[in-house]
Amino acid sequence: MDTRRRRQLAENLRATRAEIAAACEAAGRDASGVELVVVSKTHPAADVCALAGLGVTRFGENRDQEAAGKAAEVAAAGVAVRWHFVGRLQRNKCRSVASYAAEVESVDRSSLVAALDAAARSQRDSPLDVLMQLSVDGDTARGGIAETDDAALAEQVLAAPGLRLRGVMAVAPLGWEPRRAFEAVARRAEALRALAPEATVVSAGMSADYAQAIACGATRIRLGSKLLGRRGDVGYAFGSGKST
Ligand SMILES: *Cc1c(COP(=O)(O)O)cnc(C)c1O
Repeated sequence: MDTRRRRQLAENLRATRAEIAAACEAAGRDASGVELVVVSKTHPAADVCALAGLGVTRFGENRDQEAAGKAAEVAAAGVAVRWHFVGRLQRNKCRSVASYAAEVESVDRSSLVAALDAAARSQRDSPLDVLMQLSVDGDTARGGIAETDDAALAEQVLAAPGLRLRGVMAVAPLGWEPRRAFEAVARRAEALRALAPEATVVSAGMSADYAQAIACGATRIRLGSKLLGRRGDVGYAFGSGKST
């Protein structure tokens, strides 16, 4: 890959880490309590390899076809990373996703639990880590479960031998004040921990609202455009919001 892109990614990562540290400090939290997932959708395997060389270990993708190809390319380059599947998942893709993903953050219905469990048990030696995706506004058509279903879905995941329930994931709905959304997520995550004490992950916050997510206790943020540039754009410089 060209040196210019590599340098740009290094600078974006440095600046982003500094901003994450500042957000943690403002929230009175230790930065070691916030994991970074770099969402690499639409960006090439070379970007993933470059960021892995700079110490990033977790990458997120939202479409199986793209993710499967990229995971294979990165592995062929001899680079080991953890892939997080963060997109809407269809039952017929569970087998493929379970073959490369270390974690599925978007489990939001019972038919998926059964399919992922079967896929994980037939292909893996160890259980597949999963998060329950929460719908904050109850509009489940856009992904996530409604609060009234939290406990039932959790019990189902806990009963699946191929899966390990690690926590929750959410996206702040458009038009919502992010803090209000992430406070609701924190409250539901706490209720989940009463059922599943080991489900401690709260994956919340993207490029535009990660600081508010950190303020509300997120243990993981998922950043795409902030590090890699606008999707479809090359030559993105940190903070400018436009290509150079
Ligand atoms: C694309 C995506 C992200 C990253 O979004 P940015 O705004 O580019 O940081 C995070 N989470 C999910 C579920 C996504 O699909």
